[in-house]
Amino acid sequence: MRRTGWLSASRVLTVPPKCVVRKGDTVVVIVGKDRGKSGKVLSVSLRERKVTIEKINIIKRHTKPNQQNRQGGILEREAPIQISNVMIYCATCQKPVRVGSKTMTDKSRVRVCKKCQQLIESPERA
Ligand SMILES: [Zn+2]
Repeated sequence: MRRTGWLSASRVLTVPPKCVVRKGDTVVVIVGKDRGKSGKVLSVSLRERKVTIEKINIIKRHTKPNQQNRQGGILEREAPIQISNVMIYCATCQKPVRVGSKTMTDKSRVRVCKKCQQLIESPERA
C-alpha cells in the first residue's frame, strides 16, 4: 500500500483540503446507487476519507444464529461511503453545492456556500 502525504504523518495536524463534511451536516450523494438522496452525516472518518450517512448505503448483514442471537436474521446498517461522493446540501440554494471558507472578524473560520455565500451551519459544533 502506498502511503502519501498527510496519511503517513503520525499526527494529523490539519484537516486535508476539501474535507468540509462534518458530523450533523446534511449532504447529498452524487455518485452510485444512492445518487440524489440526501441525509444527515452520522460520522466522519478523516483517516479513511469516508462518511456514514443516515439511511444511505444500507447494507444487509445475514447473521447466523449464535449464543447472543438465537434467531439470527438480517441486520441492516449504514455503511460508510467516500467523502468525495457526497456534497454539502445548501438549504438556501436547495441543492448540493461547493463549499468555501471565510474568515470572520473574530478570526474564526466558517464554511460558506460558494453559490449564495450563506453560512453552512455546523449543528454538532457547540
Ligand atoms: Zn447556497
